[in-house]
Amino acid sequence: MQEEKQTSTVYPGDMPIAALQGVGAKRAESFAKAGVTALSDLLHYYPRAYQNRGDVRDLAQIRECTGGGESLTCSAVLTVGTEPQMRMIRKGMTLVKFSAFDESGTCEITYFNMDYVRRTFHVGASFRFFGQFRYDYGRVQVTNPIYEPWVEGRVLPSLVPVYPLAAGLGQKLLYQCTGEALMRMGGCLTEYLPAWILREASLPSHSWMVNVLHRPQTLEQLEAAKKRLVFEELFLQFVCMAQNGGGAKIPNRYPLTWRDISRFTACLPYDLTDSQMKCLSEIAGDMAGEYAMNRILIGDVGSGKTVVAALSAYLAIRSGCRAALLVPTEILAAQHYRELSVLFEKLGIGTVLLTGSTGKKKREAVLASLRDNGLTMDEHGASLIIGTHALLTDDVQIDRLGLVIIDEQHRFGVMQRSAILEKGEDCHCLFMSATPIPRTLSLVAYGSLNVSSIDALPRGRQPIDTFIVNSSYHARMLNFIRKQAAEGHQTYIVCPAVEEQTLKKEKEETDAENLTNLSLFDITAEPRTDGMYPAAVQTRIEDALTPDAPPLKAAVTYAETLAEELPELQVGLVHGKMKPAEKDAVMDAFCRGETHVLVATTVIEVGVNVPSATLMIVENAERFGLSQLHQLRGRVGRGDAKSYFILVSDSHEENAMARLKILKDTANGYEIAQADLEMRGAGDFITGTGVRQSGQSMFRLAANCRDTDFMEHTARLAKELIGEDPELTEWPALREKVDRIRYAGSHMEN
Ligand code: ADP
Ligand code: MG
Repeated sequence: MQEEKQTSTVYPGDMPIAALQGVGAKRAESFAKAGVTALSDLLHYYPRAYQNRGDVRDLAQIRECTGGGESLTCSAVLTVGTEPQMRMIRKGMTLVKFSAFDESGTCEITYFNMDYVRRTFHVGASFRFFGQFRYDYGRVQVTNPIYEPWVEGRVLPSLVPVYPLAAGLGQKLLYQCTGEALMRMGGCLTEYLPAWILREASLPSHSWMVNVLHRPQTLEQLEAAKKRLVFEELFLQFVCMAQNGGGAKIPNRYPLTWRDISRFTACLPYDLTDSQMKCLSEIAGDMAGEYAMNRILIGDVGSGKTVVAALSAYLAIRSGCRAALLVPTEILAAQHYRELSVLFEKLGIGTVLLTGSTGKKKREAVLASLRDNGLTMDEHGASLIIGTHALLTDDVQIDRLGLVIIDEQHRFGVMQRSAILEKGEDCHCLFMSATPIPRTLSLVAYGSLNVSSIDALPRGRQPIDTFIVNSSYHARMLNFIRKQAAEGHQTYIVCPAVEEQTLKKEKEETDAENLTNLSLFDITAEPRTDGMYPAAVQTRIEDALTPDAPPLKAAVTYAETLAEELPELQVGLVHGKMKPAEKDAVMDAFCRGETHVLVATTVIEVGVNVPSATLMIVENAERFGLSQLHQLRGRVGRGDAKSYFILVSDSHEENAMARLKILKDTANGYEIAQADLEMRGAGDFITGTGVRQSGQSMFRLAANCRDTDFMEHTARLAKELIGEDPELTEWPALREKVDRIRYAGSHMEN
């Protein structure tokens, strides 16, 4: 993604992150990996949640709230009452214990593996402890609470930001760095919205918002800042849409003259569903109408959008123009090409493929065949062009391009979408998407497009059986894979792609959290003479602290292990870091059934169609978004054979399991999206990365906004502004932000 610097004056926001104290080359690199290179990036790296440490209770209150067995996350100001005692629980694992009190009671405090705290807590000293308090065995207890020395008269922050972590970046570092960055430039962040808009929408300034998001003083402030953040996100989208014409009608230059699909359908091994027919006739109606088509075709995964798109292309081509199909990944482009070129060949229509890995010579030949070279369409063949971004470069000129189809449109940035549309003059435009978007958001998502929706799956599809298991099922799973292979079927296994370093950090945080959740009555039992606890107790401690928490399955090592476990089967591997040609080869082999098992990252999430695959296994399923899992499930069940979807997760989090269960309960993408949205609490409100990432995540914040009036008001303001100043010449900073959204979507393969 190219970001043009519009000014040359030195603005503190452009200062490199390394200018901060405590940020050397190594940390700067970690920051860069998280997308933070300049101070202003850091200030826009927002917390994902807040700890409300200002919620200080006295022990009597805590006791009252936790008496029924619940826990309470809050603070208590306590004075240390007994000298800390240290014990070994097992090799290399220590426990420090002491009691502390306030006027209303006493509390037992325990720290695991932090024996240095012994030196901090002396009888008589006071601290503010923040943690999850419980009442167990007649005592209020807390494990590994956060502690801050309490001095009468000194004010401690009450709302403490929790940042999204990245490799090499911890909370403390992020807190310090954002503090320093705020000091250096928190006051000089420019406002990029016109004052009248702030007034109309009752919003605080940008600079105020940034300061509050990092260092909120009160919950009220935080609410106001979040409101502005949601507004910003929606507003930028709406401005983008308004600038793109907001549905201005273009006269139809390529009216449909051919409507007979019989030759095409005769080549299909199935009949179109009513739903597909309905969508096709809406599309044909548009293309025959007074204005150029501007339509989105939505339909759940596996609903058969491709054939509808292909038919649309067929009609356009028969009516005398070319059609282009733009897809987000090379794997998908290759697949569409494989399937459609055969079909179109039978109909006497030539197809070409153009991706980043198309060789130079080949590319030149293809380009030459697409230019206006005086030949008639029939003479130079290629009328259907399938490609990735490689289609978007300036040297690609497509003569008589009348229809552009964009598959998985949410994967493209606005800029890319318009780049392809510019290849044709006033061409028809068909978007496709399987991403279910809650109704309130369709306005933001689709703006002025007409919508066709495939509501029913093709007949004869058997429901896919969904299972949630933990990794103790691995051996049984291997047998199941063998069984599928014996029946001529294939298996996908998807692993999350996460860096090792990040994993380590996360594990540390999870451990700390598990410890906090461990019920303490266990530990209050006296150890035996050998310093160990009774077996049952010991097990619970080890469970909580398990240093060998199951490692996240990384695709590469997973594939290696699997190949050893299944020597009689062929195991393939595909991930985003492979060269396109390698990916193609692997996918081809899988399509042809030469490999039985394909281990993959989510590169296969989108659109891949291998009907003989009947088993999809997702490792560390808790890592994935529900809609993403739903997409993955859509990779199987594409043929006649019974298909299975197995979610493997060792997560102990209640919420994670409840989320996965939704997939078991429903196969409806829309319901899944809605449920996912409802389950993500306010804690996920701010994601920190939401603004930077493209695609679905661009709706992350807005997705939490159920306030339709607010959204409509925001849309109105955007339209008004663009009405007054279409190019945003008076608002360069705003224009820069809007342009950034345009360019977003260029990181499409993972
Ligand atoms: P998606 O909507 O997710 O892009 P595809 O277009 O890839 O789905 O279609 C999924 C599968 O369904 C393909 O194998 C396709 O051949 C098949 N299919 C499409 N339409 C029908 C139909 N009317 N009857 C039976 N199978 C169909
Ligand atoms: Mg598709």
